[in-house]
Amino acid sequence: MVALSTLPMIWIGANPEQIANSLAQLIVSVVDVEFAWVTMGEPAVNVLQAHKRADAQFAPRTPKSDWAKPNARFATEVQPQRKMYGVSVPIGREPGSVLVALCGRSEFPTELEHLLLRVAVNQAAVAVQQWRTEQSLRSEMERREALEAREREQRQREMQRELAHANRVATMGQLTASIAHEVKQPIAATVVGAMAAQRIVSAKPADLDQVRRVLDEIEKAGRRAGDVIDRIRALIKKEPLRKDQLEINGAIREVLELTRGKAATNDVSVQAKLADELPLVEGDRVELQQVMLNLIINAIEALSETSEGSRELLIGTAKTESGDVFVAVQDSGPGLSPVTLEHVFDAFYTTKPSGMGMGLSICRSIIEAHGGRLWASANVPNGATFQFTLPGLPYITS
Ligand code: ADP
Repeated sequence: MVALSTLPMIWIGANPEQIANSLAQLIVSVVDVEFAWVTMGEPAVNVLQAHKRADAQFAPRTPKSDWAKPNARFATEVQPQRKMYGVSVPIGREPGSVLVALCGRSEFPTELEHLLLRVAVNQAAVAVQQWRTEQSLRSEMERREALEAREREQRQREMQRELAHANRVATMGQLTASIAHEVKQPIAATVVGAMAAQRIVSAKPADLDQVRRVLDEIEKAGRRAGDVIDRIRALIKKEPLRKDQLEINGAIREVLELTRGKAATNDVSVQAKLADELPLVEGDRVELQQVMLNLIINAIEALSETSEGSRELLIGTAKTESGDVFVAVQDSGPGLSPVTLEHVFDAFYTTKPSGMGMGLSICRSIIEAHGGRLWASANVPNGATFQFTLPGLPYITS
């Protein structure tokens, strides 16, 4: 009894299998029985058995109906000519959870033995119950923690997108003047064309073929202005993140068109060496364009600081040996000092009087979210290069 009373302590944290094993062993050592067999839960669900000094043939040979009933007493033959007397004691209320004990004595179990068995079994039932409660508490806690982590991640992602969007709008703001020029030019062409058309139709006889040609020009100019506006709208609009299969060269060309004006006003000559047959990449077009926009504007701003030499900006794409897409933005500007090189991707690191220092840190997180890598290097003797790779989609080339 004393030994049995310490069981709850011993079984703290033990799982049903350990409890079943330990119960069987304890019964064999404390009660004078030759065989103890414990099962927890329905056999079909989870059979947990423990044998001690046992003939494993016991269970199949003895019909379950003999011993599975609560508190059934029965007699069985373990080996030929070896009669055994047994008792089954239910463990808790779960059907199929039972302790079976066998002994050679015909008076087994005595009242005291039966009491000991019941006490031990009740302790085991309590321990199993406790284990289950702890398990469900733990899994509830784990579920909650996972949910909280997911929510935290979601909030972080949203914040990052907000930030990326704000940065994009701010960057586009820097382009306003040059974009206004970009739009003004086709509009001016439209007005000139319309005036020309009016002149032609007023002439007698009117040259309708020429009118058609002028109208064609007017249409093209209108579309050009519309395209520029569409591109700006796409970059400024806050759209849900997309996962498209996209062709990076096309996305880069659009950004180059938007930045052409700013490059021209800053006397920067832009060269694009875009490789043919690049693999497609998977991701969000607007976000990747934001990266290009940031890198190009940074380069133009760096170049505008230089007073000597030509201001050159080179945009290149290539396919890497491992099938990734490689993009480089290289300028002939003042380059990156060792300190800047170390911190360029840190949030809020800026050397510009009105800089925010967010652009490159956002660029890096965008590229990393696309499974790629963005890094910087200082050119020799001067200038800076920003390069990134993006995983190329296998077998799909643009
Ligand atoms: P911001 O442009 O607001 O300063 P960024 O994160 O885009 O923020 O850039 C951080 C800093 O990195 C810049 O202030 C500048 O010192 C440096 N940098 C970025 N691009 C270049 C470049 N092409 N040449 C030289 N320095 C650069």
